[in-house]
Amino acid sequence: MKVLKLQKRNLNSYLESLRVFGEIYGPVRKDEKYIYGQLDDLDKLDLRMLRTILPVKKFLVPPKFNTFSFEGYTYKPELEKIPRRVIFGVHPCEIHGLLILDKFFLERFPDPYYQERRKNTAILGLSCVPDEKCFAKSTGTHFVESGFDLAFNELQDFYLVWVGSSLGDDLVRLRLDLFEEDIKERDLHEYMKWRSWRDSQYKLKLDMTGMPDIMELNYNSPIWKKFGDKDLSCGACSMVCPTCPCYNVRDQLKPVGNSGERQRHWDSCMFKPFAVVAGGHNFRENRAERVKLWYTHKLKAFITEFGKPACVGCGRCIDTCPVDINIKTVVTALKGV
Ligand code: SF4
Ligand code: SF4
Repeated sequence: MKVLKLQKRNLNSYLESLRVFGEIYGPVRKDEKYIYGQLDDLDKLDLRMLRTILPVKKFLVPPKFNTFSFEGYTYKPELEKIPRRVIFGVHPCEIHGLLILDKFFLERFPDPYYQERRKNTAILGLSCVPDEKCFAKSTGTHFVESGFDLAFNELQDFYLVWVGSSLGDDLVRLRLDLFEEDIKERDLHEYMKWRSWRDSQYKLKLDMTGMPDIMELNYNSPIWKKFGDKDLSCGACSMVCPTCPCYNVRDQLKPVGNSGERQRHWDSCMFKPFAVVAGGHNFRENRAERVKLWYTHKLKAFITEFGKPACVGCGRCIDTCPVDINIKTVVTALKGV
C-alpha cells in the first residue's frame, strides 16, 4: 500500500480539490456533540471530534430513502439519484464498522442500493486518540488495513496518508503536487512513537475472548430480566451503532392513482413490533428477550459466522443509552466480574 506525506498546512487546499469528485462531508460541531456535516465551507471542519452522534453508516444506508417509485405494474429504481460524496475524518473503528456492513450488504445477497452508495462514497479515514468510552484496541479495530480510499494518520506537522484503493490513488493525483513521496527514517520513528503513545491511551479494556461460550452459559441468566426491566425500547443503541444493519420496508402511496414509492428506513430489534409475524404473534414480546437478542447478535452469532464480534469499540452505546445498558455493562455482567 502506497504511503505519502501531506503537510498539515496543505490539508484544506487538498480537500478543496476533491469537490470535483462530489460533495464533501466531515466532522462538524453541533451543540456539545459532533455530526458528519456537509463542508460547503471548510472552516466548519472540526478535527477535535472523537465520535459523531450517528456513525458514517448514515451515508451508506440512509435512515430513510426511496428504493423505487411505481405506477401500476411499472417501477423505476432510484439508483441514479445516489450522489457522489467524499467523507473525511472517518476513524478506524468506523471503517471496521463499514467492513462489517459490507459483509451484511454485499456478500450473500448483494444490495444494489448499498453497492451503489459504497461506489459513490470516497472514505477518507483519520487517526484518533481515545477517550474513556472508546475501547477499539480491545476489539482490534484501532488500525485499518482495508475498507478506505485514503487514511490520514496525524503526526506533529504532517499527515502520513495511506492510499487504500484505486479511487484513493485517483484522488491523490488530483493534487499530487501537495504530497511528498519521500518518507524519511525520522518520519517512520515519529509514526512508531505515536503508535506506542496512542496505544497507551486506551483506558477502557473489554476482553471479548470466548464471548459465544459465555453468552451460551448465560442463556437463562437473570441478568436479562434485570436489563429488560430498565430498558426503554427507545432503539437509540441501534441507531448509533455503526454495525446495526436492520431496516424495514413500506410503501408510501400517492393519494390518487395506483402509484407511490417503496421506502426503506432504519429499524431496531429493540422495538416491540420488530418480531411480530403474520397472525399477530410476537417472538420477542418482552424487553428482556429483545436486549438478549441485540447482544446475542453482537457477541455470539456474528463471531460464530465471521470470527469477530459485531462491535468495533466506538463507545456510542455507552455514550447514548439513557439507562446504562451498553456493551460495557452487559459484557461485565455476563462475565460476573
Ligand atoms: S456495540 Fe456499542 S461500542 Fe460496539 S460498535 Fe456498537 S455502539 Fe459501538
Ligand atoms: S438498551 Fe438503552 S438505548 Fe437501547 S433501546 Fe434500551 S434504553 Fe434505549
